[in-house]
Amino acid sequence: MKMTLMGTGTSHGVPVIGCTCPVCTSSDPHNTRLRCSALVDEANQHFLIDVGPDFRFQALKYKICRLDAVFITHSHADHLHGIDDLRIFSHKNSFAMSRDRVIAEKYPETSGEGLPVYTSERTKGYIHQRFPYIFVDHDKGGGIPKLHLIPIDQNTSENPLLLGDEEKIQIVQIPMLHGNHHTNGYVFSHGAKDQKKGIAYLTDCNFISDQSISEVIKAGGQIEHLVIDALREKEHSSHCNFLQALAYAERIGARHTWFTHITHDMSHEQIQEYIKAHLINFPKLSQIVSEGGSVSPAYDGLILEA
Ligand SMILES: [Zn+2]
Ligand SMILES: [Zn+2]
Ligand SMILES: [Zn+2]
Repeated sequence: MKMTLMGTGTSHGVPVIGCTCPVCTSSDPHNTRLRCSALVDEANQHFLIDVGPDFRFQALKYKICRLDAVFITHSHADHLHGIDDLRIFSHKNSFAMSRDRVIAEKYPETSGEGLPVYTSERTKGYIHQRFPYIFVDHDKGGGIPKLHLIPIDQNTSENPLLLGDEEKIQIVQIPMLHGNHHTNGYVFSHGAKDQKKGIAYLTDCNFISDQSISEVIKAGGQIEHLVIDALREKEHSSHCNFLQALAYAERIGARHTWFTHITHDMSHEQIQEYIKAHLINFPKLSQIVSEGGSVSPAYDGLILEA
């Protein structure tokens, strides 16, 4: 299983429009961050996590030719407002839809009808409100994406969503809080029970309950990679700062931890230094790093494998 991080920046992206700070004017490509999005490839299936305003550029840059499903974390604009550019994939996808046995059996009415978009029941409601032109009858013309919004709330570690050939890919949603907004993390895993390997993607959160932490651990099996919201050093009302992200990472214990949704306060290099300086307070992460694991800021184009 492969996850490509196509964007690792905060809602403004980095560089921030009009900003002349050292990070925004840096020539290091690690300091250029598009809005958060990831592409998961496994068993000949291609899944997108979030469809922000940079999606069209990301799809061209990473040569996405087909999508089998989309997973939305929450309804903030930086994760959703590229939704119209799913048009090309939703029209191309009728072939993929009817080939996917699980979806075809579960949702026969959607077969060939569009692209499955998984999200929470709550976010589904927001998407309907925000983009009525996609879901409500309107004057035709100009083309609209054909999307089938499917709630994923019931897909816990006991009952993962199974996709791909021979249901090889398991997906579990992780409820989290993002200020007073609800958001979904996702754990993608594959392999039999005792050999299960996973990648956890937990962006846009500042509170992960004990139950959600144990869901991540149960769903991920051997968690190779954790991608976690880590906005900046200073606290924030709806995002983890670096220390909060490290504290959650300490409990999850992935082999590799990656910060995402990063703002322009510090350069990639400075964040790496910050992590190095603070790791001593996190014994489990220190141990993992001493055994060849890592804790680092993510960057656009980073490919994770599990
Ligand atoms: Zn965001
Ligand atoms: Zn800046
Ligand atoms: Zn958000």
